[in-house]
Amino acid sequence: MYTDLKNKIAVITGGSKGIGNAIANRFGQEHMSVVINYNSDEAGAQKVAEEVADNGGQATIVKADVSTENGNQELLRAALDKFGDLDVWVNNAGMEIKSPTHKLSLEDWNKVISINETGVFLGAKTALNYFKGKNKKGNIINVSSVHEQIPWPTFASYAAAKGGVKLFTQTIAMEYAKEGIRVNAIGPGAINTPINAKKFADKAQLDQTVSMVPMNRIGKPEEVAAGAAWLASDESSYVTGITLFIDGGMTLYPAFKDGQG
Ligand code: NAD
Repeated sequence: MYTDLKNKIAVITGGSKGIGNAIANRFGQEHMSVVINYNSDEAGAQKVAEEVADNGGQATIVKADVSTENGNQELLRAALDKFGDLDVWVNNAGMEIKSPTHKLSLEDWNKVISINETGVFLGAKTALNYFKGKNKKGNIINVSSVHEQIPWPTFASYAAAKGGVKLFTQTIAMEYAKEGIRVNAIGPGAINTPINAKKFADKAQLDQTVSMVPMNRIGKPEEVAAGAAWLASDESSYVTGITLFIDGGMTLYPAFKDGQG
């Protein structure tokens, strides 16, 4: 628990399931108030809101598409209308499309970029304008991926978007550091969430993924949420512009793990 987080107000995009769900729960445990954004799964978002309340926080759910300026404005409006302020903005929403790059349609490329990268820009822009207008030392957390660093054939749009999120995070961290606004990213590795449900249901694919993790296991969404709580809290008060990899060592060149090479 981080006592400074108590009564702070957060927006979490893509909060109806997976990592967003876990971050909302953790923020509830920290007794925060949370705007849970969802794109289509209202029932899932409602369930998360109940979990946040059970954990000791407050929550409201808002349907919005993060790839639109209006959607992000609605999330800010909900934070102000329901809870009166904004302290932390978590750009978590994301999705991926697998395709050999020479067959990837422009439509699919644009879709992945618009949610994973433009969505992060629009969310951050919305939060920055609010923080600057209020002279507030706000906090922005962008959920990136190990694929901001590790190339991922057949997922070129996703890797390009996450690579963009990395330099966007570093750039705005530098741009707003003097105002006390901190901006960091989290780079999850292989985490057990709906985005991976099909892959991990297949034993061969699960084993293959596990073999790429030095710690030899898939991560839990709560382990990513723990990083989000730390980055949101004053315990990380001198940290800005980093990507906190939460990946069981996946970014450590695991092909070398037994001394190969
Ligand atoms: P998930 O599919 O469980 O959740 C993603 C959420 O984003 C869903 O709730 C979805 O509805 C939402 N979303 C998608 N498009 C949206 C839009 N246009 N507007 C609003 N919300 C939208 O996946 P997850 O694993 O929880 O992923 C969360 C984040 O973590 C993503 O950015 C993902 O790229 C990243 N990530 C996940 C893993 C992993 O192994 N699970 C690894 C690295 C990075």
